[in-house]
Amino acid sequence: MIVLPLLLVAVVTTVMTLTDQGSASVLRHLYLVPTLWAGLTQGAIGGGLIGALAGLLHAPVALPAVERDGLTSQTLDGLLSLGLPVLAGLLVGLLVDGSRARAARLSAVLAIQRRLAGPGSLEDALAGVAEELRVTLRARRVALLVGNDLRTARLASVPVGTLVDADSAAAFTLATGQAVASADLRADPRIAASEPPSPTPLRALSLPLASGVGVVGVMAVEWTGELSRATRAAAEELALHAGLAVENARLTMRQRRFADELSEKVEAATARLRELDQAKTEFLSVVSHELRTPLTALQGFSELLLRSVLPPEKAHRCLVYLHTEACALGRIVGELLDLSRIEAGRPLELRPESIDLDELMERNVELFAAEHRQHRFRWTPSVPGIALRADPDALDRMMKNLLSNAVKYSPRGGAVCVSASPALDHPGMVEVAVEDDGVGIPADQLPRIFERYVRVPHPETAAARGLGLGLSLVKALAEAHGGRVEVDSLPGKGSRFRVLLPGLDAHF
Ligand code: ADP
Repeated sequence: MIVLPLLLVAVVTTVMTLTDQGSASVLRHLYLVPTLWAGLTQGAIGGGLIGALAGLLHAPVALPAVERDGLTSQTLDGLLSLGLPVLAGLLVGLLVDGSRARAARLSAVLAIQRRLAGPGSLEDALAGVAEELRVTLRARRVALLVGNDLRTARLASVPVGTLVDADSAAAFTLATGQAVASADLRADPRIAASEPPSPTPLRALSLPLASGVGVVGVMAVEWTGELSRATRAAAEELALHAGLAVENARLTMRQRRFADELSEKVEAATARLRELDQAKTEFLSVVSHELRTPLTALQGFSELLLRSVLPPEKAHRCLVYLHTEACALGRIVGELLDLSRIEAGRPLELRPESIDLDELMERNVELFAAEHRQHRFRWTPSVPGIALRADPDALDRMMKNLLSNAVKYSPRGGAVCVSASPALDHPGMVEVAVEDDGVGIPADQLPRIFERYVRVPHPETAAARGLGLGLSLVKALAEAHGGRVEVDSLPGKGSRFRVLLPGLDAHF
């Protein structure tokens, strides 16, 4: 309020007049009180105004004394008292204005940092920052562009859909880190403005938002009318702080994202470990069960042979059972050995040689046909000229695994077809296929069946024995040969597994 200092000036003048004090009276210093008061509360304008008023009111006392006594030390002192209040008022007022502006800038910087550190999205925070800057700089508009690339930069406080022109001042500032000032935005070809012409110039400043790592964006400010040097300096200072705050916010967000991703990955890995742990526990119980079944049979039949004298026909049947169970045991132990080799990261040992595919198919089909009377086995002789080099034992294990699955997963019996031919969809590869018309596999389970310990539950095959390892071993063996294994399956219709191996001229 300027009224109170004004009243005080009036009081001092009245006292000086009533007491008829001379121009050098000590009472004249009382003028400094309202002057400084006005300067402190109203800034340079208030301080200057009251100071000038005090000087003017003191003039009727000081000037006649000069006229009367000439330039004595007393009258000079009186003359000084004319200008002193103006000077003191202006000076104090200017200092107060300066500190107020500084305080406003500091609180704007704090507000900017608070907004950028807030929980919302970066877009919202930037819009808030732009508004904060606009109010602090008393500007018509403040827009922000954050990012190093014009196409991907985020824009704040600009109309939706705005594209930053590659020839614009903002693009220039972003590319060079240099400020661009425009005396009139409407007439400046560097700034693609859609403003209608007006007599009042529209000043504009495009300032870099700089951080320790370079230019991280641009701050564009528009003012209507004159732009003081102090305002420009303030805008530059705020752009500097805003640049650092934006970079900090981006780093924090990146860190937050990184931490989130990390915790997601750790969670996924922990879940996977838990699954594996669970699978291993189940696996152990399945393995013990799988081993116990043939062992019980071996013990039972061998005891029978040892203790009783059986007719040759019955004894032979017992020996066939013994042999079958011993083979099953051998297969399980073989699978476990392969598994431990794969888990230890040791390559599967292969001894490739030329393969007679027809002999392989015929032998296996006969073997399975003898054991599984419910199924009809068929094999198609391979195309003449088809040649393959592979580890015969590995190929035999793959074939047996696929055949035993074909039988296991078609519990009502049915046809099992085996064939070998050039793979039409994989030039240079030979395919060995085993097809059944069993229970099939649901499409969503197909990618998983080649993983270890994975078994697809099906009511009709719940009793089927298995470790969930066969297909993962077929896959590992095929890959060790430079090949692969593929499957087509339809639930209720059947499955077709194909082992694809490189033709004869491939190197192992
Ligand atoms: P296992 O037969 O010991 O369970 P595999 O690794 O050989 O393990 O097979 C994994 C799973 O894939 C089986 O449990 C079964 O659910 C499914 N599967 C494999 N072959 C067939 C097939 N021919 N028909 C239907 N399902 C099959």
